Amino acid sequence: MRRWFVRPAVLKLDISGIPEAWVNVEEAAHYYATDSVAYCYGDICASLRGGFSRLNARRSQIDIHPIIAIKGQSAAGKLLKSQPRLTRFNTKLFQRDRFTCAYCGGHYEARSLEREHIVPFAQGGKDTWMNVVAACRPCNQRKANRTPEQARMPLLYVPYVPTRWEDMILQMRQGHVLGDQMEFLRAGLPPHSRLV
Ligand SMILES: [Zn+2]
Repeated sequence: MRRWFVRPAVLKLDISGIPEAWVNVEEAAHYYATDSVAYCYGDICASLRGGFSRLNARRSQIDIHPIIAIKGQSAAGKLLKSQPRLTRFNTKLFQRDRFTCAYCGGHYEARSLEREHIVPFAQGGKDTWMNVVAACRPCNQRKANRTPEQARMPLLYVPYVPTRWEDMILQMRQGHVLGDQMEFLRAGLPPHSRLV
C-alpha cells in the first residue's frame, strides 16, 4: 500500500486528451526527460532525482504530474474504435457491475461472485461485455445453462461495454486512482455508467 502511495500510476493521454494507458513513474519520467509531455494536469504526485549537472553540480529533479498528455499525432481514431478488453480476470467485470449479483441484487465480495453468461455457452452465448454479468454462485448455479427467460430470472441491470474512460478506472485496483485522475476520468463517463 505504502509503496503504491509513493509510486502512483500516471495516466497517459494522447495529444487530444484521450486516455491511452496507465504508466509507472519511471515511464512518465522518461516522457518528461525526452520533452515528450505536451501538457499535464493535477498536483505533482512524484519527484524523481536525476543525475548531477556538470555546469552547476545541482542534481536534476523531474516533477511528475498524475495526468500527462504525450506529444505526437492524435491516436483518437484508433483509441475510440477499439473496445476495452474483457480479460479472463473478473476484476473489471465485477467493478463494472458494482459487485452486485445481476439476479438477486445482493452485494458480494469478489470471491463470492462469478462471471455469468446471460446467453449460456451451450446456447451459443459469447464471452463479451454485452453477454456477461456478475452473479453470486447460488444464482449462477440455479440459472445453469438457461437464458434469463428460460430460467425466469430477469436481469436486475443490463450489461454494457465500458468506454475507454471507464476502462481506465476499471483497470486500476480499487482506491488506487488519485483524486485528480478520478476527476478527469469521471468527467468523461457516459450518463449510464455505473462508475459515476
Ligand atoms: Zn445472486
